[in-house]
Amino acid sequence: MLIDGHNRVVDYLRVSVTERCNFRCQYCMPEKPFSWVPKENLLSYEDLFKFIKVSIDEGVKKVRITGGEPLLREGLDSFIKMIYDYKNDIDLAITTNGFLLPKVAQKLKDAGLKRVNISLDTLIPEVAHKIAQKDVLNKVLEGIEAASKAGLKVKINCVPMKGINDKELVDLLEYCKERNYTIRYIEFMENHHAKDSAKGLNSQQIQEIIASKYKFEPVIRDGSSPSQNYKLEDGYEFGIIEPHKADFCSDCNRIRLTAEGFLIPCLYFEDALSIKDAVESNNIDEAVEILKKVLKNKPEKNKWSEDDNGETSARAFYKTGG
Ligand code: SAM
Ligand code: SF4
Repeated sequence: MLIDGHNRVVDYLRVSVTERCNFRCQYCMPEKPFSWVPKENLLSYEDLFKFIKVSIDEGVKKVRITGGEPLLREGLDSFIKMIYDYKNDIDLAITTNGFLLPKVAQKLKDAGLKRVNISLDTLIPEVAHKIAQKDVLNKVLEGIEAASKAGLKVKINCVPMKGINDKELVDLLEYCKERNYTIRYIEFMENHHAKDSAKGLNSQQIQEIIASKYKFEPVIRDGSSPSQNYKLEDGYEFGIIEPHKADFCSDCNRIRLTAEGFLIPCLYFEDALSIKDAVESNNIDEAVEILKKVLKNKPEKNKWSEDDNGETSARAFYKTGG
């Protein structure tokens, strides 16, 4: 079992396979073009897998593949199959913008993928274009349908933004409710890479919008889930991820591995240690040592909480996978 320096059990590893993305969401990526990390600096699937194996052996029970846009990296289905074949009861999931899912959803399911979180911030094509800086909505909706049809469990992630998609939060909830997908609204996390004008809605504001049409009650929070869930009168549950709340980190169970091999204990802080040399030289003992060192130094809480005056993070979501 992996236990961090604050006595939290860590059993969830998020692995970014690329920082590249085919979208430029205004809450995540800079508007101006920038250069990507050269492909040769990325860890191969084989080396990422070596670390995933170590983590599973040490107690990780859930692996989520993310990015950037993970579906941009070729051969993702074979990578998923490697993990599935190693331990088929691992909770194996992916987070994607959905654009490329229509082609690959079935292949991913066949490889052993169980769940998919898809980002959907709007149901209006022009708004989707404004957020992602590209005409994306039809393909994303097709992707969601393809994932569901393939038998993958679908969750929708939505980042509510002032003046952008705040009028659509009820429509998005209803879109998900009708199809039996869970929707989770994620509070915008301020960061240096987002558009300067980007302003998010906090949990209270999101709840007020939903309350304009539906009555709901909070549900007792389930262990380490970052989502506070709420139940409508008909039993449908939606979630809000509230990183600005002071108690958000108290049962954090996750660590993150970037595509370049940096192991990150907390989304907010700059601290990270590289496992690249260890896995490339097959030094598994060293990889375990680095994992334990990172856990020991996992911060007690992030800095998005209300008592930190809305400080922003220099960490890019497209590098860490969110
Ligand atoms: N490209 C994939 C996607 O968009 O789903 C995976 C990577 S993306 C960085 C992972 C999640 O982070 C997405 O659900 C996205 O909405 C969320 N995200 C990105 N920037 C964010 C921010 N500033 N605040 C809150 N959530 C953010
Ligand atoms: Fe790309 Fe996901 Fe970031 Fe949007 S949120 S720019 S889809 S990595």
